Amino acid sequence: MDFNLSEEELEFKQMAREFAEKRLYPQAEEMDEKAETPKELIKECGELGYLGFTVPEEYGGMGFSSTAFAGVLEEFSAACAGFGILLSVHCSLCCEIINLFGNDDIKKKYLPPMATGEKIGSYCLTEPNAGTDLVSISSTAENKGDYYLLNGTKTFVTNGGLASVFIIFAKTNPDEGHRGLSCFVVDSNLDGISIGKPEKKCGIKASDTREISFVDVKVPKENLLGEEGNGFRMAVTILNSGRIGVSFQAIGIAQSALNETIKYSKERKQFGKPLAAFQALQFKMADMATRIDASRLLAYRAAQLKDAGKPCHRETSMSKLFCSQTANFVANEAVQIHGGYGYMKEYAVERYFRDARVTEIYEGTSEAHRMVISKDLLKD
Ligand SMILES: Cc1cc2nc3c(=O)[nH]c(=O)nc-3n(C[C@H](O)[C@H](O)[C@H](O)COP(=O)(O)OP(=O)(O)OC[C@H]3O[C@@H](n4cnc5c(N)ncnc54)[C@H](O)[C@@H]3O)c2cc1C
Repeated sequence: MDFNLSEEELEFKQMAREFAEKRLYPQAEEMDEKAETPKELIKECGELGYLGFTVPEEYGGMGFSSTAFAGVLEEFSAACAGFGILLSVHCSLCCEIINLFGNDDIKKKYLPPMATGEKIGSYCLTEPNAGTDLVSISSTAENKGDYYLLNGTKTFVTNGGLASVFIIFAKTNPDEGHRGLSCFVVDSNLDGISIGKPEKKCGIKASDTREISFVDVKVPKENLLGEEGNGFRMAVTILNSGRIGVSFQAIGIAQSALNETIKYSKERKQFGKPLAAFQALQFKMADMATRIDASRLLAYRAAQLKDAGKPCHRETSMSKLFCSQTANFVANEAVQIHGGYGYMKEYAVERYFRDARVTEIYEGTSEAHRMVISKDLLKD
């Protein structure tokens, strides 16, 4: 099933698979071990156009749809989920929010270098005391006329140590609740910005995650994205792209875990037979494959609705919820079918098991997505 992808988009998915198998997968274990992403890989992806995949051609990108990008994200994440999230945050959140809400000047300034990978983006919303409850952020941006004075701390920032462009949410009017939130495009070299040490994580270790603080940072007024007070609407809109991104990251992890399991179950023998001959394990694999296919259907539906410009809040939430649960279910069963070997680092399923966990936490927790879905179901 090709999910109505054009010939060109299918070709790109295939090229992404070849690149991921040749360049990402062979390094994935080492990237996990060292907890870093080689800079030359990022450069290579920039040269091949992946970092500007959805950026319009007039701003130096490839101009492809979210549906086409989904295929690339799946293939990259299947090889290295940590690298997959680098790509998703840079493209689906940072480039896309600038493209959707920026004026022509800001797009011309930031999108071309981001499309080539010369500049990498980070999305800074979460704070130490504000995660799911994003309206409670305490970062402030005080309007001083020519500039905004930015103060605050952002936590768990993906690409934090690699980025030269930060998309930052802060309160321009702290008394106005969600209407007091605004969004800024901030160059990482401004005075007053401190970047913390890389966080030590359970999984997606190749992804760079940091705390970033801002003390009296003077952000030029032209770096306000969209209008003052519109930050909440922008954050909520862009979450659709992020959810689709994580859905395909989760599908990539799950598919790799299943592939490894099928291979292993044919090689490993117990009671004189390959594991694949035992019905208890055959049924596990049948469930794993069924959930992966169901995930793909939900995720492509969400991506296609978004590309068609249709409302898709409920659908992106359903996709993100189901795909991330699938990744965890499949990776868990993959370890089970590998027995003790699945618990050892020599086997890739151990990494998939750790990588899958975060997909239920970031871009909205599973609980947050159930809140979105049920609110939509129960509205008048
Ligand atoms: C590896 C990693 C990378 C990340 N990258 C980024 C990034 O690039 N940019 C960024 O801005 N953020 C990023 N995040 C942050 C991520 O989005 C948050 O961790 C997530 O939104 C949850 O927020 P929290 O951790 O503060 O948990 P909390 O909001 O404190 O939630 C804790 C628990 O309570 C539950 N909960 C909260 N409120 C309710 C409620 N009303 N009803 C029921 N249950 C509730 C949650 O579902 C969760 O289970 C990243 C996180 C991680 C782990």
